[in-house]
Amino acid sequence: MSKSIWDGLYGDVEVRRVQPYEALKSYICPGCNQEITKGMGHYVCVPAEAPDLRRHWHYACWDRRSTVL
Ligand SMILES: [Zn+2]
Repeated sequence: MSKSIWDGLYGDVEVRRVQPYEALKSYICPGCNQEITKGMGHYVCVPAEAPDLRRHWHYACWDRRSTVL
């Protein structure tokens, strides 16, 4: 099974919690391809060796990611 960028391909993934008041833009979550709307709390996940590949995830999508991928 090949690694994805979320399983350590580019080093450890730093997961930060974005609070609703910090969510000033909307994003597309790679877990479900649905929008994370402005003002919704979520995670931003940053591969240590490829920080430009960071993505914003719904809490639930990130938490169940290991069973999906
Ligand atoms: Zn999602």
